[in-house]
Amino acid sequence: MTQAIVLGAGISGLSVALELQAQGVDVKVLEASQRPGGAIGSIRHEGFLAELGPHTVAGSNAAVETFLHRTGLSERRLVANAESKRRFAVRDGRVFALPGNPMDLLKTEYLSGAAKLALLREPLAGPARDDVDESVTMFVKRRLGEEILEYGIDLMINGIWAGDPNRLSMRHAFRKVWGLESDYGSLIKGGIKKAKAAKEDPGPKFSKELFSFPEGNQELALKAAAMLDVEYDANVVALESGKKWSVKFTQGGKKRSLKADLVVSALPGWVLADLPIDKMSTGFLHALNYPSLAVETFAFKREDVDHPIDGFGMLVPKVENRRILGALFTSSLFSGRAPDGYVTMAVFSGGLRDPQMSQMPRDARRKIVLAELADVLGVHGSPVWEYESYWEEAIPQYEVGHGRIVVEIEALERRHPGFFVSGNFRDAVSVPDLIASGTELGQRAAQYLD
Ligand SMILES: Cc1cc2nc3c(=O)[nH]c(=O)nc-3n(C[C@H](O)[C@H](O)[C@H](O)COP(=O)(O)OP(=O)(O)OC[C@H]3O[C@@H](n4cnc5c(N)ncnc54)[C@H](O)[C@@H]3O)c2cc1C
Repeated sequence: MTQAIVLGAGISGLSVALELQAQGVDVKVLEASQRPGGAIGSIRHEGFLAELGPHTVAGSNAAVETFLHRTGLSERRLVANAESKRRFAVRDGRVFALPGNPMDLLKTEYLSGAAKLALLREPLAGPARDDVDESVTMFVKRRLGEEILEYGIDLMINGIWAGDPNRLSMRHAFRKVWGLESDYGSLIKGGIKKAKAAKEDPGPKFSKELFSFPEGNQELALKAAAMLDVEYDANVVALESGKKWSVKFTQGGKKRSLKADLVVSALPGWVLADLPIDKMSTGFLHALNYPSLAVETFAFKREDVDHPIDGFGMLVPKVENRRILGALFTSSLFSGRAPDGYVTMAVFSGGLRDPQMSQMPRDARRKIVLAELADVLGVHGSPVWEYESYWEEAIPQYEVGHGRIVVEIEALERRHPGFFVSGNFRDAVSVPDLIASGTELGQRAAQYLD
């Protein structure tokens, strides 16, 4: 007898379902597509590997360790190569290695003397007003100045959100950094104190190293799904509450429905926004902004790329006026991504910075991307293999006012006992954070059945 139904087999839904199952709950997962993983997916082609969405899992936490243990993936973890600690950025058309520690920061040519001084003065900057949900631009200009915004923080916005610093909320999009100011009065002072406290903390320590798996991040989803009761091609079209929850879906052209004591939505926010649910309105989720994004993986002969691409990747600040957001040097990042004598890189374009770029026909975009790679990294010669993944709705932006959406989700759950909302539009977007929040939600949902 199905006690719980989880809608969506992305990493959020899989994490919730694994936890429910571990708590002894009979759980079924309904997934619209033919494969698990949602944004997570990997393609292997003759020794090359392309990721469709996330390329790295950035560090571990207790829930990730449990997830890996449950799925038998602990030993499959592929830690990023040491050279991935080196990151690059473009300024005035040149590729700079970014400073990796405070001493390098003072020596780097990437930032001007004025920007370095602004960094040193950061602890003296005044506090924010309590009642203002500051944009990233407001926050960073107030504490660090314009240049750090344009050449520093803008890179993080690119790399994580493909977003717009004028629209993203500092408090919601960069919660940990924002917390350094609110808890310690300064990012630098807070960073030092937190690092010291973490060192002295006798509790369990989790690796901060980036990792993936030999066959890509798809391993996370495939292994988790194999342990669960997942129905594929199950397109959820409506929900009805009553003595039990009833989930309506279509499968193989047929209408079906299933009943359960509780339902967890792990659907994308833009899907949940339009899902007919009796007595419940999820329309407020239309306020979420999902820009499109193109990810193009190219494989080249090693000798066809002048730059050593010996690092994590390269990010391009907006002020450089280029069409690509950045590139991950995927064959340097993890071993086994390209055969000997070849390299791979994944190039990102579009996002909120340049929506036209991700929406133009693929051939036109490809031409622009290859021209930029030639210009910036000295790529000559044609790709020997390539794979493009295009995301019409890529990453939900935590914009100024995002707090109101979170409050509405909480109110929805309170008003409708037995209905829970998971997913990357609530309080976390990264894979490790979603595993943690999904696991926590699974525990909360299991308690509801007690
Ligand atoms: C291009 C890109 C790069 C990224 N890079 C990184 C990275 O390097 N590191 C990192 O940590 N994070 C990264 N992220 C973010 C992270 O991958 C996502 O936030 C996360 O995977 C989302 O998981 P989710 O389960 O919440 O949603 P999704 O993965 O979107 O899963 C939702 C699931 O619901 C299913 N579904 C939709 N409609 C229905 C329906 N009607 N009925 C049934 N099922 C339905 C979908 O098919 C999907 O499987 C990246 C994201 C993208 C798009």
